[in-house]
Parts: sequence; structure tokens; C-alpha cells
Amino acid sequence: MMKSYKPILFKLHIVIILLLFMMLAHFTITEAKSNKSHFQIQKKTIVIDPGHGGYDKGAEGPDGTFEKNVTMEFARVLALELEKTYNVILTRTDDYWIDILERTAMANHMNADMFISIHTGGSFLHQASGISLYYYEKTSTFALMLETESIEESKSSNFKELWSNIQGRHQKNSKVLAERILNSLKEKIGENVEYSAEIQGAPLMVLEGADTPAVLIEIGYITNPKEEKSLNDIVLLSFLAQKIKKGIDDFFEKAQ
Ligand SMILES: [Zn+2]
Repeated sequence: MMKSYKPILFKLHIVIILLLFMMLAHFTITEAKSNKSHFQIQKKTIVIDPGHGGYDKGAEGPDGTFEKNVTMEFARVLALELEKTYNVILTRTDDYWIDILERTAMANHMNADMFISIHTGGSFLHQASGISLYYYEKTSTFALMLETESIEESKSSNFKELWSNIQGRHQKNSKVLAERILNSLKEKIGENVEYSAEIQGAPLMVLEGADTPAVLIEIGYITNPKEEKSLNDIVLLSFLAQKIKKGIDDFFEKAQ
């Protein structure tokens, strides 16, 4: 009688060993998957906003270059550079208009770690030149309100008040971000290209609702004939994108 149990016991052992093996394999795969998703969660998300678009052409250069096209082109170049390290999302991917508030809301909805709005400077003075980095500052003496035409007057004052308080929480970090990018732009890395750049605080509508560190970069004056040419030079744009990425890398490494 006892003999007849042995094969069963033997089979039971095999089944238990197989089960243990399968469990081990399952946990190993699950662990690998969770490590992967952990890595993906760690990857920061940056939203790039190419200014203007569609009927809104932005500023125009003496040779007829529209700001909306330069901002789109540079956003693509910057995205290619940033994608080496970060998840990158563009607020617009072609020549169409998006409301200013929607651009910022998109960054908030995506839970972005950074919001970068791209513009060029425009001035009736053709000698105006250089890169300007803006962070949001409510009480700024610069009464600069870009793209305010898209803000509907019907928005309630309560909503405006709440919205304008959002970026206030990130103002210090946004200023640090602007400084990191400025420092990187001023560094010479063996290239014969020099950028003059400055930082300003301004009550910019596109930044005020961003629930993340946010800056607006004017990558040169399109109204300056020399800079209009540079803004159409893909090599210079790529170089500028590398510099900006370095500033962003520095910000994430040091500021957090
Ligand atoms: Zn603009």
C-alpha cells in the first residue's frame, strides 16, 4: 500500500518545485517591469511652447521672417536636444493658434516639471539685440503683457486671481532656472559664437498659471537684420538649444 503513494508524492514534489520556479520567474519579471516603470517615472517632463501660430504671426523681420515660424522651428530643434534626457511635449506641433491659457493648462495637465515658452524679440529699433529670459513677476516695473489679446474679458476676476497665484509658488525656482540658462549661454565652449543675454521679471500671461518652474525665452530680435539671419540658421539654433539644455540640466541637478 505504501509503495503506491510514492509516485504520487514524487509527482507532488515536481509540481511544488515547478510552482516555486514559476513564482520566482514571475517575481523576477515583475521586478524588472517595476524597475523600468520606476525609471520612466524618474524621467522629467518638459513642455515647450512655440509662441504664436496660425493667424497670429508674432513679430516680423525686415526680410519677412515671421516669429511664429522661428518659434516652431526652434521648438523642434530644442525638443530633439532635450529628448536625449527628458520627456518632451510641444503645446503646438504645427502652424495653428492655441489660446495662451490653454498652453499653460496643457503643462499643468501633463504634470510637467518645467514649462519653456519660446518667442523672439520685436522692436521698432533695428539695433535691439540679444536673448531675453523672463520669469513671472507680478509687481514688475516692466509692463510687458505678451499676447493679452487672447484673454477673454469675460474671465471672472476670481478665476484670474487664483490663476495668477499659481506661478507665485514657483517664482523663486523659475528665476533660478532663468539664471542657470543665462550662465550656460554665457559660457564659451570652444565655439566662436557669443550670446548676449539678460534676465527680467515680467507679468507674462503665458507664465502666470504654470504650476511648475517656467520661463519665457526670446531667442533673439527678429527685427534686427543680423539676428533675423541667425534665427534662420539651423546650426546656430542647434548650438543655442545645446546651451539651453545645459542650463536646464544644471537646474535639475542643483536646484532640487
Ligand atoms: Zn512673441
